[in-house]
Amino acid sequence: MPLTVEETMLNGLPICRGIAIGKPFFLNREEFKPQELNINPGDMKIEIERYRLALSRSKQDIKRLQRQLESESSDETIKILDGQLEMLQDPLLTEEIETEICSTEKNAEFVLQNALERFQKQFEKLGDAYFKERFQDVKDIIRRVTTYLQEGRNLSLRDVPPNSIVCAYDLSASDAAESTYGYVKAFITECGGAASHAGIVAKAKGIPFLTSVNVNMLKGTQGQMVIVDGRLGKVIINPSQETQTAYEQLLREIGDQSRTLEERTKWPSETFDGHRITLSANIESNKEIDLVHQFNGAGIGLFRSEYIFLPRSEIPDEEEQHQIYSELVEGMRGLPVVIRTFDLAGDKAPLLGSNTGKSNLFLGGRSTRFLLKQKKVFKEQIRAILRASVKGNVRIMFPMISTMQELRQAKSILKESQEELGLTDPIPIGCMIEVPSAAMIADYFARECDFLSIGTNDLVQYSLAVDRSDQMQNEFYEPTDPGVIRLIKWIIDQADREEIPVSVCGEMASDPRFVPLLLGLGVQELSVTPRALPTIKNAIRNTSIVEAIQLAEAALEMATAKQVLDLLSDEYQKMVPQDLFYNAS
Ligand code: PEP
Ligand code: MG
Repeated sequence: MPLTVEETMLNGLPICRGIAIGKPFFLNREEFKPQELNINPGDMKIEIERYRLALSRSKQDIKRLQRQLESESSDETIKILDGQLEMLQDPLLTEEIETEICSTEKNAEFVLQNALERFQKQFEKLGDAYFKERFQDVKDIIRRVTTYLQEGRNLSLRDVPPNSIVCAYDLSASDAAESTYGYVKAFITECGGAASHAGIVAKAKGIPFLTSVNVNMLKGTQGQMVIVDGRLGKVIINPSQETQTAYEQLLREIGDQSRTLEERTKWPSETFDGHRITLSANIESNKEIDLVHQFNGAGIGLFRSEYIFLPRSEIPDEEEQHQIYSELVEGMRGLPVVIRTFDLAGDKAPLLGSNTGKSNLFLGGRSTRFLLKQKKVFKEQIRAILRASVKGNVRIMFPMISTMQELRQAKSILKESQEELGLTDPIPIGCMIEVPSAAMIADYFARECDFLSIGTNDLVQYSLAVDRSDQMQNEFYEPTDPGVIRLIKWIIDQADREEIPVSVCGEMASDPRFVPLLLGLGVQELSVTPRALPTIKNAIRNTSIVEAIQLAEAALEMATAKQVLDLLSDEYQKMVPQDLFYNAS
């Protein structure tokens, strides 16, 4: 592709607002083929050992997956995996590959890749649908073994050069998690949903993120300068001197604005007419604790515990978890910490090892439903949390609860664990309301919980039947949909009737334009990504609760998401005209 010489603009959709200037770095996983390396005859034994280890780790993976499926009675999938286990013992993959590594003196992954291409030709010749299907299994198994072989050699976001604008077809939550700000200045992807977990991690790290960008158009820009404007959803390739100077100036102004707001996080979290709001933080790792203190967060409103084993696929045992939760609780120095039990599956499926491709991971066995079938895992986590709870102010929260039966089962496992540990002090229990059916019976949940937390990311997804991580559906992912707003209002009213607190911990709470609406609907606590604490505190302090209630009443009367969004954006513009991020046009 020819080098782009003129200033060129591409459009995208902002997932994480922010501005970055840097050079493109391409993460081409799809096209990534194993490198061909020569192996010294003296190192052949080590290479064979490396190959055998990758085979054995793949076997363990599959067996673990089978155990998990056994408890879910997925007999058909278990059989498919049986077939894959057999393949791993087939001489085609054991002796023949080893012989080829020795005879060609090439690295194992390269030999395996060549074998895959040969198998593909042979299977294609067979032309039979059944054999074609079998080839998918062969491919799957070879991909799994190759992943283990490439561990450490893989293209990793830990190794990118400083000031990289990472361009990729897609980005996983673990990709985002291993990126370091300063090295990765921004993400540009083709795919990526408005409320994807990769987006959530990018926000936590303060890395601007644009999706729905035609990444191919950037292919000719290697080595050139690129500006990412995550407020307006623009990528500017090879900017003119004038554009560059303007953005450098804007970056300085944004820096000044951020410092002022950071300084003001010391101020009380209350509206200008004196209504107190608890402003807490959502975190994915203990590394974020310092930031929460720096920005004066009132506590942790959501600890996404499943991220503690990213990017590994095994769940740490009780002891390891106990240490992590203890560090969290002690690090928060007596402030409240809400630890959410593992929310697995959905777009966090890689955490469970590769899925079998059979089921929709957003529906069915996700989250607490998954844990209720994995009682050992669930109990180990609860015990680890309970043991850490004696060191501070801990609350436990169950995600994606959809029926009272689920809540009661989860509570009974908690009770069992408390008895085993001889703990008598009650621990506050909350559940996340993320499913419309749960929202509608929030009155029942409120009677059996100490607090509720509204997970708007999923509530929007499940109410509007839109996949939060699919960029093709971003236009339908509208948190201001009147149906969603009415559900939020309903949940808050039920919690109020039972006199228990209710918070919003979805991304809606991290967008300052939505703050007056949420406060007007009656939310008493907002839990936001730590980097949003200064902006949200500022929005709270600029809100009048009296006017917010009127605004919420007006929004509840509206018929479309656009009307509500326009109303909120106009109000915010009047309320905080100097905000360079959210008033940009
Ligand atoms: C939510 O769904 O709003 C939420 C906070 O949980 P998560 O984003 O981790 O699914
Ligand atoms: Mg959720």
